[in-house]
Amino acid sequence: MSRSVSRVPTPGRGADLVVVSVSAPPERSPASRGPVVVVTANLHGDECTGTGAILRLIPILEAQLLSGTVHLYPSLNPDGLERRVRRFPEDDQDLNRLFPGDANGAPGERLAHAAWTDLTARRPDLVVDLHADSPDALPYALLDRAVSLRGDARTKVEADSARLAVATGLTVVREYPDDRYLRFRLDRSLSGAVLNRLSVPTVTIEAGPRLVLDADAVDVTVRAVLGMLSALGMVAPASPPAVTPIPGGPWRRESGPRAAANGVLVPRVGVGVLLPKGAVVAEVRALAGLLLQEVVAESPGFVLAPAERAYVVAGVPICTWAMADGG
Ligand SMILES: [Zn+2]
Repeated sequence: MSRSVSRVPTPGRGADLVVVSVSAPPERSPASRGPVVVVTANLHGDECTGTGAILRLIPILEAQLLSGTVHLYPSLNPDGLERRVRRFPEDDQDLNRLFPGDANGAPGERLAHAAWTDLTARRPDLVVDLHADSPDALPYALLDRAVSLRGDARTKVEADSARLAVATGLTVVREYPDDRYLRFRLDRSLSGAVLNRLSVPTVTIEAGPRLVLDADAVDVTVRAVLGMLSALGMVAPASPPAVTPIPGGPWRRESGPRAAANGVLVPRVGVGVLLPKGAVVAEVRALAGLLLQEVVAESPGFVLAPAERAYVVAGVPICTWAMADGG
């Protein structure tokens, strides 16, 4: 097994990016180079589940990779990891809206450019980006929208991405519909840029809370990645995560119903429970106990990720919701 470590110098004051590459032994993949997969983590510096998963994946792949190469980026935001913040500390930008970056831009744009240049030079067949959602969120595989592609080109890369997302064993959720996908600049997320600029399949995995390595979330993420590598024939079939995908779908991400009052947010249902429109999802209560609002579902679906807050103000969504995707 060949394993190598490279470093990507980053512009500005920040730490270099580390890349660990594991390749299958040549005798086990004689015909071709085999698939090339890139796994990235910790683009949001406070979301460290993926970092923990990559630390676990390195020895597993060294022992078990049958074909191809996996390039693992344990942190795309090492300064954010160190400082426990989501954004890029030097200029407080969300790196996941800056791809493909700009060599002459602000510090965050230069970091995105350095990461993008290194990643694309590796000519991946699949890019997996590892994130974390709120503490009680359902672990899920998130699919971008190939809004810049047309016809068969769009259909193919979205179908290839969906097939690999199913191989994670997790509930699969598509991003917001095209108009909001563009308005929220999700085509400039790392996965969005990979799908839209490279026409390469991409899957984002969201698992676990922020700021700590949760053992279950790390395990779910490791198994989800191995499921995709197995689907590509790169590892032997792996046991799926100990979670059950929500039946039905295809699902898409949606903003949850909003609080209409300020108060304590009291959940009434857990994540992943299928609810009809009008079902009570949560309550807003005053500190003295008075019920101020029953927050109800605006469509059939389920809570994907409760808001990471115990107090809401009017207008704030109380969760991320999943609903059937019409198109
Ligand atoms: Zn994130």
